[in-house]
Amino acid sequence: MIAQNLNHIRAQIRQAALDYKRDPASILLLAVSKTRPAEDIVAAYQAGQRHFGESYCQEALKKQQELGAFNISWHFIGPIQSNKTKALAAHFDWIHSVDTLKIAQRLSEQRPSALAPLNVCLQVNISGEASKSGIALDELPQMCRLVAELPNLKLRGVMAIPAPREDFEQQREPYKVLYQAVAKLDNPELDTFSFGMTGDLKAAIAEGSTIVRIGTALFGARM
Ligand SMILES: *Cc1c(COP(=O)(O)O)cnc(C)c1O
Repeated sequence: MIAQNLNHIRAQIRQAALDYKRDPASILLLAVSKTRPAEDIVAAYQAGQRHFGESYCQEALKKQQELGAFNISWHFIGPIQSNKTKALAAHFDWIHSVDTLKIAQRLSEQRPSALAPLNVCLQVNISGEASKSGIALDELPQMCRLVAELPNLKLRGVMAIPAPREDFEQQREPYKVLYQAVAKLDNPELDTFSFGMTGDLKAAIAEGSTIVRIGTALFGARM
């Protein structure tokens, strides 16, 4: 079932990319495995999936221990508490949800020196009410400047979780605004747009997504 879902999502990504004249290979599928048992991750892994996203630190660390033998790239996409930065810095390859300078500084200080710089995205609160997390759009230029200076982080781009919308054009709007704000910074290091979930995958790809974060369509509805 998971393998079938995965094939279906890959086909959707490919089709959306072609519809918007984009290279399908420029869009990474992140399998959001929060609340899912390690067996579900194994099933997706056996079907070729390598990038997995988790939202809760303790839960993720437990699964990482169970899955130590697998060559998985781990992405953290949830809210970050400062008492978790040490574990996050040591056990993840990517953090999508950086939204304060203090958290960024702690992640940089706590990144083990044996590891490559930690890939990070700044979470931007693009439609106000949707989520309490994320910097405001007008803070983006300064936050990019400050976070880019931190030695053990590699600032890659932005992440957004817009308010859910049914209408396709309304889904596109916040992503368009954020994409353009990043483009204006004219920084080639910012190559990552973590845009799109199960409900707005196509709209996100239409507006430049390079990482889509898919849970429900892959693993089924969360309990
Ligand atoms: C849970 C979650 C997802 C996946 O959402 P689905 O609608 O299940 O695809 C994506 N991004 C974040 C930040 C999440 O917390």
